[in-house]
Amino acid sequence: MTALSPLLKQATPVVVDHALGSWIWSTEGERYLDFTTGIGVTSTGHCHPRVVAAAREQTGKIIHAQYTTVMHLPLISLTEKLGEVLPPTLDSIFYANSGSEAVEASIRLARMATGRPNIIAFHGGFHGRTVAAAALTSAGTKFRSGFSPIMGGVHIAPFPYAFRYGWDEETAIDFALRELDYLLQTISSPADTAGFIVEPVLGDGGYLPAPPRFLEGLRERANHHDIVLILDEVQAGVGRTGRFWGHQHSSISPDILITAKGLASGFPISAIAAPVELMSKAWPGSQGGTYGGNAVAAAAAVATLEVIHDEHLVENASIRGRQLREGLDELKGSNPLIGEVRGLGLMQAMEFVTDAGEPNQRLATAVQQVAVEHNLLLLTCGALGNVVRIIPPLTVTSEEIATGLDRLRAALKAAHDG
Ligand code: PMP
Repeated sequence: MTALSPLLKQATPVVVDHALGSWIWSTEGERYLDFTTGIGVTSTGHCHPRVVAAAREQTGKIIHAQYTTVMHLPLISLTEKLGEVLPPTLDSIFYANSGSEAVEASIRLARMATGRPNIIAFHGGFHGRTVAAAALTSAGTKFRSGFSPIMGGVHIAPFPYAFRYGWDEETAIDFALRELDYLLQTISSPADTAGFIVEPVLGDGGYLPAPPRFLEGLRERANHHDIVLILDEVQAGVGRTGRFWGHQHSSISPDILITAKGLASGFPISAIAAPVELMSKAWPGSQGGTYGGNAVAAAAAVATLEVIHDEHLVENASIRGRQLREGLDELKGSNPLIGEVRGLGLMQAMEFVTDAGEPNQRLATAVQQVAVEHNLLLLTCGALGNVVRIIPPLTVTSEEIATGLDRLRAALKAAHDG
């Protein structure tokens, strides 16, 4: 009998029958509270009726048309809707299918626009698994080892990971910016540097919000040297952090913004947005692929943005995020192996440490696994795998957060005792 590839290693034995809102029902009839939302993908909750209806309706009209041949209405509407929430300078949008593809498109664009080869990414960043995106990724060796040579022309600069360095945040920011300057002086000169790529909150790298002063430092250096500042909002964007975009916790705005994941509540679509003068530096045909801007995915994205607006989900992410954070802080108070609780909005995490303060991957994995027995789905992250992330849908209710915290408390106790 043919089996699934062993590469598709599942963290849980759950087989989904159906899902709604914050909940997943297994084929065994168990009901799980889903605080993974497919790594933040099901932003409006599982199978939001308006998203389902929009996709159903679109499927009966046209499923796919190559937008380089004929345009379709969902993509026109989506572009208008995104225009309402994007920084006004980013007045041109290009569509692809996945985060990685959009990352690749942004790198190609930065290189074509500047005529320079190098990209500087930041330690702990995750930008995807395609060979170029993997080269930008430093959220664990599993993402970049064993298939070299990966894309060249990439340098990884420090990210201000204050907790791991054991420093206060200001010291960590000063260090990261000084090291970046040193890199620009000694390894990748501005004349050779096309772009900086950074996540407003490191996702797979451990849910570390980029401090505003750090982002502002990148913006200043990008302005000064005509380097393209690319913000990868794939995980932090679309309301997740309690602002529509993760970078809106700072005063900066990017030259290129990348979005995917939560954009269409689970349908595969991604986009890069940039000023039209920058976007037009790539020539037609140099970017894109067969399924980019698929009509059903675009219709689901339009419905997603409407639901986020109509149901005030960005505000909900902020309010429910505070509730979640308070609960996690309380758990930390009674559990010395939770080294740090951090995050923004509904993008929260706990970093586990040993008694000696070293990264505790074993405990993070145990918490995730034991939580399944308490009918709570969680994900780990962190470059060293010692962080548990909590990512409810943006629609999550106060009762669901309370239930999730109760289950988490029980799972922590069981993982600890076990
Ligand atoms: N960038 C970030 C910040 C991500 O979190 C991810 C996915 N985890 C990607 C890019 C890659 O997206 P995809 O898996 O859709 O290719």
